[in-house]
Amino acid sequence: MKKVAVIGAGTMGNGIAHTFAQFGYQVALIDISQDSLDKAINTITKNLDRLVSKERLSEAGKSETLNNLITFTKLEEGIKGVDLVVEAATENIDIKLSIFKQLDEICEPHVILASNTSSISITKIGSVTKRPDKVIGMHFMNPVPIMKLVEIIRGYATSDEVCNTIMEASIKLGKTPTEVNDYPGFIANRILMPMINEAIYSLFEGVAGVEEIDTVMKLGMAHPMGPLQLADFIGLDVCLSIMNVLYSGFGNPKYAPCPLLVNMVTAKKLGVKSGEGFYDYSKGMKEAVVSSNFQ
Ligand code: NAD
Repeated sequence: MKKVAVIGAGTMGNGIAHTFAQFGYQVALIDISQDSLDKAINTITKNLDRLVSKERLSEAGKSETLNNLITFTKLEEGIKGVDLVVEAATENIDIKLSIFKQLDEICEPHVILASNTSSISITKIGSVTKRPDKVIGMHFMNPVPIMKLVEIIRGYATSDEVCNTIMEASIKLGKTPTEVNDYPGFIANRILMPMINEAIYSLFEGVAGVEEIDTVMKLGMAHPMGPLQLADFIGLDVCLSIMNVLYSGFGNPKYAPCPLLVNMVTAKKLGVKSGEGFYDYSKGMKEAVVSSNFQ
């Protein structure tokens, strides 16, 4: 595999493109928004500069990485000659199904189609293509250049050969791939999201405040950040959409999203990306304080 297309240049897409390019792949980064592409190249350049300043990458390595990247706004132009597509577009089932239908029509038959989805069924995505054996989940973690895990999700029809190819490709990127089956939330979010939801319930029921809940989990469980702060980083809308996938997928009330989470998303308090969630980021990340709604 030499040439890869990454679809979606947002938070995850820029990190995925950066990682493949740094490990010598030619990368076509594709997004419908030119603005997202410009921001992605800017972010990748800043992240490469940071690696150079820490002496973890040479200046030549930085130039090679940037030279390996080309951006496109048109899908059919970007995917020419690629062996692998990694889709990291917005977490919306209609958007993903439409992208995979198009990809199936325009990509050569050998091309593997991977999705970075956090929670949408790989089996469902594969079912809209004529190559469900070549559709697989490649779930990178944020921030992609730093985090070691890639959760590899086998759809019902994904072949052993494709699974092995993607496991090997992940190892070549310096990652640790872990194979899981295609059930709601896979493993990462099936375990992480109910913990975050329970933290939100604890706040909702007045058991403790934002900082107290996060301190218990940070200092008591040695987590690098508390669950409420982590929810702010992931995006409360993303958390809610994953809880809804778990709730509808299993039909079990234990996955019902906390009404406070629903309210906050409705009020557009989405966390870091909107400037306020459980914490207020309007003065910058380092000065974040508990949002006034929860004091
Ligand atoms: P994001 O909102 O930051 O970026 C999404 C990008 O997709 C945007 O730039 C948008 O313009 C683009 N896009 C939308 N429709 C498109 C189309 N038809 N063709 C091409 N580009 C299109 O989202 P994100 O946080 O990077 O998430 C992307 C995927 O990664 C989602 O499936 C999400 O569930 C998954 N994911 C996110 C995280 C996280 O922490 N944010 C972690 C793991 C996985």
